[in-house]
Amino acid sequence: MTLLKRLHLWLIPILTFLVIIAGIAIYYQRIEGYKTLEVIKWQDKVTSAFNATNYEQHGISSMAHEVAGTIQFLRLTQNTSDIARRSFLEKYLSQLVEKPRIKALDGAQIFVIDELFTVVATSIKRGPFYFPTLPDEIYQRTFDTYVKISLGEPFLSDGFIYQSDNDQVRFSFVGAYDSKLFPEDPRAQVQKERTILITDAPLTHLTTLLNDIKSVTYVNADFSLANNNNNNIVSTREIKLSQTEDSLTNRTQLSFSSSKMTLTLSIQDNHYDSEKRRIALEVFGYIVAIEAILLFVIITIMRMRILKPISHLIDDIKAGGQELRYFKRSKGDDEISVLKNAYIDTLSKVKFEAEFDYLTRLANRRTFTSHIEKRIQCYANDNAFIIGWDIKDFRKINDLYGTNIGDRVLVAVAECLRTFIHNYQADLGMGCSDYSISRYGGNCFVAVVDVNHGDKIDSFIRQFESKRGNCVVVDGYTFNLDVAIAIFPLSLSERSELWQKGLEEAFNKSKQIRSRQALVIFDKKLARQLERRDEIEKILLSCSRNGEFELEFMPLIDAKTMLIKGMEVLIRCPSLLQFNTGPDEFIRIAEQANIISSIDQWVIENAFSSYQRMRNECNYQESISINVSALELYNVMFIDLLTKASRKYQIAPQKVVIEITETSYVKSTQDTIGMVEALRDLGFKVSLDDFGTGYTSINQLLHYPVDELKIDKSFVELIGSGSGNEKMLTSIIALAHTCGASVVGEGVEDSYQSHYLSNIGCDTLQGYVFSQPLAFDDFCQLYRTYDAEHYRDQVNDVSLINKKYSPMND
Ligand code: C2E
Ligand code: CA
Ligand code: CA
Repeated sequence: MTLLKRLHLWLIPILTFLVIIAGIAIYYQRIEGYKTLEVIKWQDKVTSAFNATNYEQHGISSMAHEVAGTIQFLRLTQNTSDIARRSFLEKYLSQLVEKPRIKALDGAQIFVIDELFTVVATSIKRGPFYFPTLPDEIYQRTFDTYVKISLGEPFLSDGFIYQSDNDQVRFSFVGAYDSKLFPEDPRAQVQKERTILITDAPLTHLTTLLNDIKSVTYVNADFSLANNNNNNIVSTREIKLSQTEDSLTNRTQLSFSSSKMTLTLSIQDNHYDSEKRRIALEVFGYIVAIEAILLFVIITIMRMRILKPISHLIDDIKAGGQELRYFKRSKGDDEISVLKNAYIDTLSKVKFEAEFDYLTRLANRRTFTSHIEKRIQCYANDNAFIIGWDIKDFRKINDLYGTNIGDRVLVAVAECLRTFIHNYQADLGMGCSDYSISRYGGNCFVAVVDVNHGDKIDSFIRQFESKRGNCVVVDGYTFNLDVAIAIFPLSLSERSELWQKGLEEAFNKSKQIRSRQALVIFDKKLARQLERRDEIEKILLSCSRNGEFELEFMPLIDAKTMLIKGMEVLIRCPSLLQFNTGPDEFIRIAEQANIISSIDQWVIENAFSSYQRMRNECNYQESISINVSALELYNVMFIDLLTKASRKYQIAPQKVVIEITETSYVKSTQDTIGMVEALRDLGFKVSLDDFGTGYTSINQLLHYPVDELKIDKSFVELIGSGSGNEKMLTSIIALAHTCGASVVGEGVEDSYQSHYLSNIGCDTLQGYVFSQPLAFDDFCQLYRTYDAEHYRDQVNDVSLINKKYSPMND
């Protein structure tokens, strides 16, 4: 998943979550703010209405004072029954209420009541037969005042607020006047016969406020008036305010009270519903916008500051990886640059470790191989040669001086090679790539060298070899190393894989030469041999897949009784007859091509089954010797294979001899010796084949705890040649016997050899003098008809005739 996708995956939910939380907080904060504002709004409205009411009340009371101060009113109070005075006053009153300042009170009315509680004058226009009456709401209060006055209680004036039928809040001012006394005179307060003047008008602000409240849904007003109206003028100056929240009914209550009235506003939460919806929508819009902006900003920053540099880095890395060599280091000091440089450093290190040998710092085998492949593809290599040096017996240096010195010898050789080749190429005006010199194997070095047109490579080798003699010096010791040198002219490499096989072939040949600086150049002849080997290898591969082999059997003769005491099983490959090759050659090829173990498996299986048949058909009870590749000593499945076969065909391990030839591939080690011991512990016998040739020698005899030793036919051939080798045969036999091993003489071709070998103590004889390897039926025939007496006679006969060769004469 890309970084950006991962970022989206994490960032979007987290950001959404945070923004939602913030949104909810903002939402509630705004709702609370709105509620507070709403409360303040209502507080303002109510307080200003209350204050306005105050002024209106004053206006109404001053209207009364104004009327009371007029001549019309004064004259009427002196005689309230005088109709003319009544009509004078009424005229005045009706004119007064029409005056704009009074009209502004919007429905002011004035009543004058005589001492008999009769309305004697009013501001209301009326017809001749209409007798004015007081409105109900005023009547009761005025009557109370009248009663008070009649009882002689002190009274001058008073005002009261009431709600009229048409939902108006009104204020009436009631004053009682005596015509003879000034109101300031204390007696004026207790005079029983007085004229009552009432001025009445609506309190518009309060009325409007109550109407306003009514029109608002979910807000209710509860308006009430105080009963004890003791003060002359209603004082609304002092307004007490209280606020309560009722969470049960979800409402806020605001209570405003003055001495005369109380207004309780209750605002239900539903009142805020529409506002809540609006705020919710608004906040939602905000959070969506904020999230989008934040996302955009973060992603843009990510893209610009992180992803873009990273993708540049990746491009650089990819390009660097393809080019292999060229990495552009970053100059910046930001994290990406540091990362890039660290990557380059690591890569260079890894690349070095992958391409070069840690010890000698030369190119490793893989790098060298790909370098050569490229050269073969890209250039004409007429004057280029691959040269290989294999240090002979390097193991000895390790054994003698220790691996530390061994390593330093390798480093010294590498250094010598590097310096020499660099100088040599430079002298010719050519460059030398780091990849062109390699530690190809443990103690094997190769290099590709260009020479001048027409020059031979031999001169390069000579120059280098003379130099090398002095330059491998470690701890004061000069190491004069023996080397096997192989040369492959690159011009021969039509097929790119040929050079490796060719070099190997040249090495093989060169290693066989017993010289301090053996040199083999891969040429056309070797190429043909290689081709032949390739062909053989292909056929072997197909034969081993299909089991297209045959077995032949060769008798082993007891040297004393001349009886058949065993047989050796030998493999044949009919498909290879065209190449005129036998197991001597093709087994080695099979070993090199890694197909030997399947061949060995086939041989073991078929040798055991042949033995079983032979036991049944010709009552064969002797031993069976089977050749296996020494490589099997490394194969952990080998013992299992043998035991299974011996069980399957019911052949006692004691009857089975496993013949092993030690080769260049298999040296005696703890493991191989352990394997030999394990075989013997199971009852199998182990025979050391081809004793005396290249690899198998006294050393091995002492290492391997074997039951049998087979002296190679090259030794047997020498019997009778008088070269003194016969003495060695006697010693080998004696040594073998000392080690508890019996001795087989191989390749016995004449009676004299068999006579000689039996006389010096050889236990068993094998060779054409007795029989060639035979097919199954022929061997059975031989076994049935075998005449030991004949061979005993023959041997004796020869000893009489050829006295001069008798060992007794030596
Ligand atoms: P080896 O084990 O030393 O086998 C003996 C070889 O010497 C046989 O050759 C045999 O035919 C030959 N020989 C025996 N007596 C005489 C003689 O008097 N004169 C001459 N000129 N030759 C004689 P062969 O069958 O060609 O086998 C060659 C080698 O191939 C064997 O040498 C053995 O190393 C290998 N080999 C043969 N069969 C097998 C096998 O089944 N498995 C494996 N791994 N190797 C085998
Ligand atoms: Ca053998
Ligand atoms: Ca042999």
